[in-house]
Order: sequence, then C-alpha cells, then structure tokens
Amino acid sequence: MSCIEGGHLTTAGQHAGEARRHDWSRGLGTVVSLLAATLLAATLLASAALPAQVTPNCSSCAVWNTPQAPFRIYGNTYYVGTRGLTALLITSSDGHVLIDGGLSESAPLIAASIRALGFRLEDIRAIVNSHVHYDHAGGLAELQRLSGGEVFASSRSAPVLVRGTVGRDDPQYAIAFPIAAVARVRPIPAGDSVRVGDLTLHALATAGHTPGGTSWTWRSCDGHRCLSLVYGDSQSAISADDFLFTKSADYPRALEDFAAGFAALEQVRCDILLTPHPDASAMWDRLAKREGGARDALRDSSACRRYAETARRALDKRVSAERAKMP
Ligand SMILES: [Zn+2]
Repeated sequence: MSCIEGGHLTTAGQHAGEARRHDWSRGLGTVVSLLAATLLAATLLASAALPAQVTPNCSSCAVWNTPQAPFRIYGNTYYVGTRGLTALLITSSDGHVLIDGGLSESAPLIAASIRALGFRLEDIRAIVNSHVHYDHAGGLAELQRLSGGEVFASSRSAPVLVRGTVGRDDPQYAIAFPIAAVARVRPIPAGDSVRVGDLTLHALATAGHTPGGTSWTWRSCDGHRCLSLVYGDSQSAISADDFLFTKSADYPRALEDFAAGFAALEQVRCDILLTPHPDASAMWDRLAKREGGARDALRDSSACRRYAETARRALDKRVSAERAKMP
C-alpha cells in the first residue's frame, strides 16, 4: 500500500517506520501530481507466485561472479559487487540505496559484502537498476526479498523486471536469459530522481543497449570535498543476430535513444565514472593505482565524455556494417 503524506510519496512496507524514511525527490523534473496520478496507479505488481530462481548458463558467468572484497569508492559510496559485475551501496543515516544486483548467483555475495562493511541489508530503502539484462538484474528479486527495499526502474524497464523476460524491443531479445521476476517495481519517469533521506539519485535516460537503460548520478562527500559520481549504463550495440539497430520495427528509436544517451553522458557532471561491467571503465586499473598511492586515481572528469565517445564510434561502425549489408 502506498500513500501520499505531506507532498511526498511514502510507502508503508515491511519495516516499522518505513513510511517516514521513504521519500521521493521533488527536484527538477519531478512533478508530485504526476507521482500521485501515475506512479501510484502504475506501480506494477508481479503475479502472487514466488519469483522463480533462474540460473543463467553462460560462458562468462562464473568469471563475472568471482568474489570481490567490498571497498569504499568515495565518501558514502561502496563497491559491493563481484569482480565482473558492479553493485554499489550508497549509505545514509536514514537508509541506503543499492544499485544493481548482478546475476541471481551474485545476490548472496552482494549481501555478504554489504554485511562485511558493517551495514544492514534491512536498511536498504531503494534498489535501482541500470538495465534489465540477467547480469545486472538477475539478483534484484533476491536482494529485494532480503532487504525489503523498494525497486525503482525506468518505465521501459519496470515491466521487464516484473515479467522476468525482456521484450521484443530488446536488441538481445532472442539471446537474453530470463531473470527471477521482481515482486514489485515502481516505474520512474525519465529525468526523475529517487531520494532516500538526504541521498538523491538522478536518473539519466541512456537507452539503446536496452530500451529502458538508465544511468544514475549522485554526490558523495569525503569531509567537505564532494564529488559527482556517475553510474554509466552499458552503451554497447550488442544484439541477437536478427536485430538491426538501423531498422527495427520493435525498437525503431534505438539510434535516437543511443544518441540522446551519449549526449547526456557527455554533458553530465562527472568526477568518478562507474560502469555495470567494471572493466568498461578500467575500475581495477584505477583501483590498483589508488592502492599504489595515487589518492585520486578513480577520479577523471573526462571519463564520462570519453565513455560516450568510445560507444559512439562503436555504434557508428555497427551502423555502417548494417548499411553495407542492406540491399
Ligand atoms: Zn546488457
């Protein structure tokens, strides 16, 4: 059950006092009446059945799921993912936000990492997702069950998480593994924010890799020094063999979505870039440099722009290859 109290959307959930702690941003781009009229009505409910556990059988999964000791990235932002799949915990005294859940097999590792840092799963108030593929959303259902946190996703991603299978508009439709269906997902409009206590995460629409792909940005402070962190969603033009980014009846806006996402990543304030696959932003190289004494090695204010430029070049190549094959 959800209710509006004092202009904020609050949720009465499993935890005593949860209604006090849940809090939606009313910042730029947020329209409270829209929240009331649309989000309440649109809160998606999965079938009453318990989510099935789905074990993907992919060649990379075991490597991706290699355990990784959790560590502080900056301020109140922590890495709690596996060696090959990022999950992030952003903490506050009023509750925490978790970003992404890895594979279904990653969920217990992520939970253990959060506990190893001294945080309680029960204090996770919101769980957000980059994109709906099994390697980033597969653990969300279990992490929601363990924490009681509410899952938020873009309006294009939310139904996929609830259903547990991607739609025909996903470039990887023919090859994507299903995920454990998430019991309840709250859709958020593009450009909106999720707020927990004094944490505010802004959603950036960066679709193309999937139709609902979302990047997230927030501020983390170490003492008085505050930085802008960006979790830049996957920007790769990867698809099943039968999908054309240049000509898809199921996802006709794929190229426009990519272009809008690249522009958003180029313009966003970005001190530290993090990505769903840590290697995509050289996380381990940067961390090794930091551990070697370069205190600011994770920081690179050009990283988001270069991330977008690299992805644009790769997409251009893909588009040229598709056009070359056209009759
Ligand atoms: Zn993906």
